[in-house]
Amino acid sequence: MKKRMFEFHCPNCQHSFFMARDTYLIKDEKSLEYKRLKEQVYFRHQCQNCKVIFDLEYPLIYRDPKQQYNLILAQKAPKDLEGNWVVTRTIRQFLNAFSILDLGLDLHEVLPILLSIRSQKGEKTKLIDYDPDKCVLWFESEGFPFGVGYSKGNFSSNR
Ligand SMILES: [Zn+2]
Repeated sequence: MKKRMFEFHCPNCQHSFFMARDTYLIKDEKSLEYKRLKEQVYFRHQCQNCKVIFDLEYPLIYRDPKQQYNLILAQKAPKDLEGNWVVTRTIRQFLNAFSILDLGLDLHEVLPILLSIRSQKGEKTKLIDYDPDKCVLWFESEGFPFGVGYSKGNFSSNR
C-alpha cells in the first residue's frame, strides 16, 4: 500500500539485494498480505543466491480500522502516536501480537498463555482461533490443532 525500497543481506551467504516492501498495511481479509500474516510467514524470504529462507526485517505499520488498533514493528517507537498503538521490536513479537489482536483478544491476557503453551508444545506453536461460545483458544503445533480453555476478560479469576 505504501512501498519503500530497502537493502537486505542474506544471513547465510551475505548476498545483498534491494527490494520494495510495504511499510503501511491496512487490514484486508482478502489480501495475500493478510493471509501471509495469518500463516505467520509474512516476512519470510528465500535468498535468490543460496536459497536459504530467512525473515526480512524492516519497519512496518499495520492498521486494523474495525478493531481500531495499530500494530507497529520498529526499533524505535515513533513519537506522537495517536489512538491505540502496540509497538513491537522483533518480527516474533509482531506476529505474536498480530495473532492475538486479530482475533479480538486481549494482548496482556493471551500473550502469557501463548508463550507458556509454546514452551510446552514447541516454538512453532501458533494461536489460530478463538471460540467465544465454548471459551476455547485454538492452537496448532506440528500441524495438529488443540484447544485450551479460556474465558475472555475472565482469565485471572478462572485460574
Ligand atoms: Zn543467501
